[in-house]
Amino acid sequence: MTNTVRERVDATIERRERFMTQNYPRWGITVVEGSGCEFTDSTGTTYLDLFAGTGATILGHCHPELVAAATEQASKLWHVGNLLDNEPQSLLAEAIARHGFGGRSCFAHSGSDSNEAAFKLVRLYGRRDGRDRYKVIATDRAFHGRGFAAMNATSGEKARKGYEPFLEGFSHVPYNDLAAMEAAIDDQTAAIIIEPIQGEGGVHVPDDDYLPGLRALCDRHDLLLILDEVWTGCGRTGQWFAYQASGITPDIMTLGKAVGCGLPVGVMCASDRIADLFTVASYGGVPHASTLSGNCIPMAVSARMFEIVERDGLVPRAGRLGNEVMSALRERAGRLPIKDVRGRGLFIGIELDDEYPRSATEVVREALGRGVLLGSAGERVLRFAPAIIVSESQLERGVQMIADVLGS
Ligand code: PLP
Repeated sequence: MTNTVRERVDATIERRERFMTQNYPRWGITVVEGSGCEFTDSTGTTYLDLFAGTGATILGHCHPELVAAATEQASKLWHVGNLLDNEPQSLLAEAIARHGFGGRSCFAHSGSDSNEAAFKLVRLYGRRDGRDRYKVIATDRAFHGRGFAAMNATSGEKARKGYEPFLEGFSHVPYNDLAAMEAAIDDQTAAIIIEPIQGEGGVHVPDDDYLPGLRALCDRHDLLLILDEVWTGCGRTGQWFAYQASGITPDIMTLGKAVGCGLPVGVMCASDRIADLFTVASYGGVPHASTLSGNCIPMAVSARMFEIVERDGLVPRAGRLGNEVMSALRERAGRLPIKDVRGRGLFIGIELDDEYPRSATEVVREALGRGVLLGSAGERVLRFAPAIIVSESQLERGVQMIADVLGS
């Protein structure tokens, strides 16, 4: 590292420590550029990125067609405010409806913000007929964001410690347990929120009858079924949206991460049956929004992403490649300290053996030292969730890296 580079790295870290809240643990690597599934740090070291900006850079870093979409939009129009129409918003909303279950999109900034919109819609729905229904049932190990409503649906201490009093009406039941869900419903319940595959909680895929069972419960009790597809949406699991593998449709789907390809976009898509409750006319004002939601540049990028993913057949490819990676990992599992490999498509969790002495964080740190970025969920699960444009040789390198680190 030259002195100048060293000085800039040191200055970056000094400024971060002095002028930024330390609200994220950091690995101590200053990234300067990225391309596809690789990024380069300030020392010139290149890394293989198998975690895609925590799931957000679904088409990798600086995809040339997304760069073109952003650049073209940036030189035309950035922001006019939501009192005026702009084309990119309408194109993105159409793409989401076309690839999902129809419905109408409300734009937000993040996964958490999308869920805030969903919880507001739940309250309008629960009271539309004069009854007072507002409760939302979520699940243990769930992660739905850190906003002031969303954190109530998130399970455990991780996002909530110290922020009491919590919002009334949120409860949690074990995931993948229909009987527990049914038992938790009372006459004030208005919705169930669920990740179709749990992500932050450790990559848990429910039984095939779970989502259909939840759909049936919601229909029977007149509840809204909210599917939080913030991690699983936009092709990662081998479906456009993970719920599509189960043959049901939700009432509300929330998106974040991949839908913005690394730019801040959130979406709350409501079915046509309920979307009218979320209009200026019926609410008597703006039911949910923020000044920059639906900003032209991320909208243009996101709309282009849907075109590219469809044109290049990336959804079935993610499903096929994910199966290959999981088979390769399962083949080696007997020789390595691996308890379980689970997931769908390129959304994979690798649970470490109970006796294995190192934590998932320590494994991730060692892999990073060897030039590969993996993710973790808690202390026992490694996560493998690259951009869906990842090459087969990059996947092989990732599997080999896991084998090397766990075998050493
Ligand atoms: N929902 C799920 C399923 C998530 O995994 C996350 C973040 O990891 C969120 C919501 C919150 O998204 P964001 O970090 O964009 O607010």
